[in-house]
Amino acid sequence: MRQRYDVVVVGGGHNGLTAAAYLAGAGKSVLVLERLDVLGGAAVSAQAFPGVEARLSRYSYLVSLLPQQILRDLRLDIRLERRRYSSYTPLPGSDRGLLVDNGDAEATAASFAAIGAERDVAAWRTFYDDTASAARALFPTVTEPLLTASEARRAVGDDGIWSMLAERPIGEAVEDRFASDLVRGVVYTDALIGTFAPNVDETLAANRCFLYHVIGGGTGDWDVPVGGMGAVTGELARAARLAGAELITGAEITAIDPEGAVTVRRGDEETIVAAGHILVNASPTELARLLGEPEPVPAAEGAQVKVNLLLSRLPRLRDASVDPAAAFGGTFHIREGWNDLAVAYDAAAGGRVPDPLPAEIYCHSLTDPSILSPELAASGAHTLTLFGLHVPHRLVRDGRVDREALERAALASLDSVLAEPVEPLLLRDADGRPTIETKTTADLEQTLRLPGGSIFHGPLDWPWADDDADLATPAQRWGVATEHDRVLLAGSGARRGGAVSGIAGHNAAMAVIEAL
Ligand SMILES: Cc1cc2nc3c(=O)[nH]c(=O)nc-3n(C[C@H](O)[C@H](O)[C@H](O)COP(=O)(O)OP(=O)(O)OC[C@H]3O[C@@H](n4cnc5c(N)ncnc54)[C@H](O)[C@@H]3O)c2cc1C
Repeated sequence: MRQRYDVVVVGGGHNGLTAAAYLAGAGKSVLVLERLDVLGGAAVSAQAFPGVEARLSRYSYLVSLLPQQILRDLRLDIRLERRRYSSYTPLPGSDRGLLVDNGDAEATAASFAAIGAERDVAAWRTFYDDTASAARALFPTVTEPLLTASEARRAVGDDGIWSMLAERPIGEAVEDRFASDLVRGVVYTDALIGTFAPNVDETLAANRCFLYHVIGGGTGDWDVPVGGMGAVTGELARAARLAGAELITGAEITAIDPEGAVTVRRGDEETIVAAGHILVNASPTELARLLGEPEPVPAAEGAQVKVNLLLSRLPRLRDASVDPAAAFGGTFHIREGWNDLAVAYDAAAGGRVPDPLPAEIYCHSLTDPSILSPELAASGAHTLTLFGLHVPHRLVRDGRVDREALERAALASLDSVLAEPVEPLLLRDADGRPTIETKTTADLEQTLRLPGGSIFHGPLDWPWADDDADLATPAQRWGVATEHDRVLLAGSGARRGGAVSGIAGHNAAMAVIEAL
């Protein structure tokens, strides 16, 4: 470690690594400092269960928003596998469910009919044609200087679609366009991932969340990273190192001087390193703490619980007409009907954990068995990742619920739509414990410094600037500005951050290059 660098990056998450790779590639001296012992932040793989050779994507798991341009620019060898099945949703209390099969339109239409939702087949097609048309217009702009809202509206080119996505609560469109309670819920969950919002959300926070979930890659597809999230981060770290960046783990920044210096703690030692620019891959809340400034308002708050499971085999479904490999091959929705979501929101807003807990599950190992040892894969074992909704951090923070209770709630919810309980299918680790791990918002705050457990580092912004926004500086134009000229956001909390995408890192790097 030297005493001065062109750029110091605070945090070695995937965005910090992306920024480092671009900037080192442009000839800048770059130092990345990560407080944990591993790089990657929320984009990592881990052997979660001692003695069991399964490398789970511990936190984030699917990729949609990582632009091809970044893969090309940084020559990243990252393979993303498309899933054939979009989703399966059991109809609670019945032995039927909705299977959306991207490879078979006829079978999908028959499945809609089987749950009494034939009218929604055409609505589904039109709705996603509309979101895809917005995606094609907007996604190429996320690695460009910000458009203004008016420019983005012109790019979308259809006032009806623009109004649905950016002006009216997206829940209203869902109610207008779809008749089935179950179909409405399936569509609306994209507005709720990591976002605590009612079904009709006047603040439009749900719209912003929805937009990020449907524009990725210009299609809105969510793909499986082969080798898990650790493979994505591993490639970014390789590219950053190859370009000449210095990456140091176990190095915590304890203070930032906005004039261009950071204080680094490694073990018992503290050092000051000077920097032309400081790129903050940590959250805006962490940045405020390091600057000794007040925290952003409103405070960031996550609203989810994540449960990783390793099973001896896939569970049996109540719906005998669907192969579990198809049902778990896409996103498996649990108790996420429109009414279920409304009731769950009200319960959580009133201080109670929803019962049943709305959740979705996905199976990585069906699409990519490479994360399992050959023996485990051959045995029929599978990983499942459950993402529970409507658990705002305040419930955990205020002691209304703890990790064990959330784990029980998640399992009960899952069991309510299966033909058999899931717990007996858990494997045992080397210590004889069942192969299940649960991460609450408090766990994420403590381990990853995600404020309030917010998976996006805070509330999402629109992927464009207000018409009257000040876009005078490169950092403002790229959506990475802070109050301090030399300090830029290079993480999920930047405008257009909020996913495993590298976009914030790319944009921060472009702002630095433009400024020099
Ligand atoms: C449970 C969960 C599920 C998710 N699922 C998905 C998904 O499927 N798909 C998707 O696209 N996105 C998902 N996300 C969101 C996505 O993971 C994040 O938006 C993304 O990983 C953020 O990357 P980042 O590099 O900006 O920040 P982070 O990954 O948060 O990395 C920031 C790094 O900064 C380090 N740091 C913080 N403070 C300091 C300090 N003072 N000194 C030094 N280092 C510091 C942290 O340790 C961390 O490594 C999920 C997130 C979570 C938590």
